[in-house]
Amino acid sequence: MASLRIDFLTLFTDMVECYCSDSIVGRAREKGILDIRARNIRDYTADRQKRVDDAPFGGGMGMLMQIQPIDACYASLVEENGGEHIHLIYMSPKGRILTQQRALELSKMGRFAILCGRYEGVDERVIDTLVDEEISVGDYVVTGGELPGLMLADCVSRLVPGVLSDDVCFTEESHFSGLLEYPQYTRPADYNGLTVPEVLLSGHHANIERWRREQSLLITARRRPDMLEKCALTDADRRFLEKMKNEDPD
Ligand code: SAM
Repeated sequence: MASLRIDFLTLFTDMVECYCSDSIVGRAREKGILDIRARNIRDYTADRQKRVDDAPFGGGMGMLMQIQPIDACYASLVEENGGEHIHLIYMSPKGRILTQQRALELSKMGRFAILCGRYEGVDERVIDTLVDEEISVGDYVVTGGELPGLMLADCVSRLVPGVLSDDVCFTEESHFSGLLEYPQYTRPADYNGLTVPEVLLSGHHANIERWRREQSLLITARRRPDMLEKCALTDADRRFLEKMKNEDPD
């Protein structure tokens, strides 16, 4: 059985399939670590013309996704799951902003489903009765929930053991430890006079570690001071930041 199963409820299954067939997620699916499937909401509509949307009561711009096809689509998933509840996430600009911490929690959940909205979104009764959680990918609006849903699935998937070659691949990345990642360089060491920091060529692992930690602290202090406030800093980290502040108060 896969370590994580994600079911998309969408009107555009090909978008999901296309993204999830390639690269790291695609390989993890082939290995059976991830089981990602997409179910077309339109297949569950009771409407003879296969409609899944209608105009909002009270008037206003655009159309809304109706509750009936979404309810039937989700019910079919639950039925296949032996009647057991499946955590349903609705991708929405009104949801809580996705964080690495929430992604890590979801990666340990074993299974969840993602509802992708279209048009002006979904009938509010879907949210009231079916949805467990609303997640946003940022304070902006895109056309549909597929891209945000794929961002969520990708971000969660790479935290599942075995999906990346080594856990260090994500534990050292931006946001995992509450800091932004240090700068990185690759060959050549000198490109038209653009050189790389000497310490990275020294082979001295302790010095490289310390340089990377300090660079992470610096970049986070400059770009995301809000993150530093929440991060568990060591005494050495605090001393370094204090020293930097005294040397360069800006
Ligand atoms: N009328 C909605 C509003 O103002 O909140 C926006 C609807 S949007 C055009 C259509 C769908 O795209 C939404 O139902 C949602 O699934 C998805 N979507 C758009 N922006 C998103 C975001 N920032 N995060 C997650 N999903 C988003």
